[in-house]
Amino acid sequence: SHMGTYYAAWMATKGKAICTTDIGCYTLGLNLPSKMADYLLCMGSSVGTAGAMSMCSGLPVIAFIGDSTFFHGGIHGLVSAVYNKHKFVYVILDNSTTAMTGHQPHPGIGITGLGVKNEPVLIEKVLEGCGVKKVIVVDPYDIKSTIQAFKDALAYDGLAAIVSRHPCALNETREKKKKGLLVPYVVDRTKCKKCAICTDKFACPAISLDKENYAVVSEALCVGCGMCSQVCPSHAFVKKEVKM
Ligand code: SF4
Ligand code: SF4
Repeated sequence: SHMGTYYAAWMATKGKAICTTDIGCYTLGLNLPSKMADYLLCMGSSVGTAGAMSMCSGLPVIAFIGDSTFFHGGIHGLVSAVYNKHKFVYVILDNSTTAMTGHQPHPGIGITGLGVKNEPVLIEKVLEGCGVKKVIVVDPYDIKSTIQAFKDALAYDGLAAIVSRHPCALNETREKKKKGLLVPYVVDRTKCKKCAICTDKFACPAISLDKENYAVVSEALCVGCGMCSQVCPSHAFVKKEVKM
């Protein structure tokens, strides 16, 4: 799901924003083609460094942080940023788990570390409680809405937050496979124009180009999210036909 968020951020800014990031699986956004990470100091630093950069750079600034890191270290810097009237976009990449260290629960999930059910702490409510006036919740699998969310947040005169929420692909894929609901995507070669947008701008790890520069999908890696079908201008990605 982070690919969708990063692609949308890139589309909304054309790469002309300063991006701070934090520690988690989403730190991989620093790699090509997203390059959505210019600065990482330590855990919880994304929001504080974004505030400082927004004051002195004159450029749009986006801070990325994961949901578990937000609860761990992303709130105290937020309070300071709101109080000091910093202007940037704070993006919480909410995949409802702590993916990088082994899927431990956190307060946003509704289950404690000892496995006891509890009322989840909603990230959007925490943001509002800290004084953020513009909070947008979006599903990054919906690329068009996510691009619009970034445009709206960047246009806001103050600190705007985007909660980009979709369950971790690892967890979701496991569940879908168990239930036989995973339908991978394939490329219709008659529609593929070899433009390489899907590999050079979006870069799902399941997509590559073959020797003739047509896009191909690795069925073993595809999680059936459908984001590629929204990114391809030629509508070349289609669901694989499942034989009944
Ligand atoms: S974006 Fe679409 S048309 Fe372009 S290479 Fe990928 S599948 Fe082909
Ligand atoms: S190839 Fe599969 S995993 Fe990659 S974007 Fe398309 S549907 Fe999602």
